[in-house]
Amino acid sequence: MSRMRVLTLVGAPLAPEAALEAASFLRAQGAELEAQRELSEGEAEDILFQGGPEDDRALAEAIRALLPGVDVAIQPVEGRRKRLLAADMDSTMVTGETIDELAEAAGVGPQVAAITQAAMRGELDFEQALDSRLAQIRGLPEAILQQVSDRLVLSPGARELVATMRWGGAFTMLVSGGFHGPADDCGRRLGFELVRANRLIREEDKLTGAAERPLVTGDVKLALLRERAEALGIGPEAAMAIGDGSNDIPMLQAAGLGIAYHAKPKTRAAARFAIDHTDLRTALFYQGYDAEDLAEALGGAA
Ligand SMILES: [Mg+2]
Repeated sequence: MSRMRVLTLVGAPLAPEAALEAASFLRAQGAELEAQRELSEGEAEDILFQGGPEDDRALAEAIRALLPGVDVAIQPVEGRRKRLLAADMDSTMVTGETIDELAEAAGVGPQVAAITQAAMRGELDFEQALDSRLAQIRGLPEAILQQVSDRLVLSPGARELVATMRWGGAFTMLVSGGFHGPADDCGRRLGFELVRANRLIREEDKLTGAAERPLVTGDVKLALLRERAEALGIGPEAAMAIGDGSNDIPMLQAAGLGIAYHAKPKTRAAARFAIDHTDLRTALFYQGYDAEDLAEALGGAA
């Protein structure tokens, strides 16, 4: 007996033929199909199977190539539901980058945005890139952080993701290379139980253009995930991590369900799972939650 695996397809919308096409591809590869289940009508389907090619990631890539516009995940059925969520904030839980918003407010938007893009692609050292951007906002009134908070736009599905994982018994934390203030506000609005971000240093109500050390780097995000997993008495394979940037790669690779979310190419290539076309609710479908679970979890949170 080989282990039971599950293929999850998510589209916006998911065409009825997509599941049929994926199923016949799996069969042609020597897999035995065990069951099919609709997770969300016209949107998400699970196909349970055994056998076939062993490499989940390569198999998922092959199915992705067959079904343009569809997000695809393959994983063992056992343990697919995760007990810890570690989420990036900028361009993941919220649209856009808070440091760019800060720079915009300071009138140095274009200079800072160019450095952000290079840093997110992994072309610059994270710490250096952050320092050179922060130097540009030196002397701004600290009240600007509240303006940035007020302008945060939550990503589609962010609320559902956090509420449903909490409803399912998971611990949720926001781990951000952005800043306390906006990050706390995002955490509160989405219901995260823990928020870690960088802290901007102030003097007489003005930002000094520096941040407290140590910075929340990729290694710090990974350490936070490991520490929290240990405190929960679980291994990293029982955790989900999600993010889009280079500094998310270590935690994405450590987590059992590490998802590159509309990610930069380097991050997308490094992660075992991806969401390229759909919203954050797809991370719930990958874990086998269905539309009814989402509705109940949100109802419970209201
Ligand atoms: Mg990000």
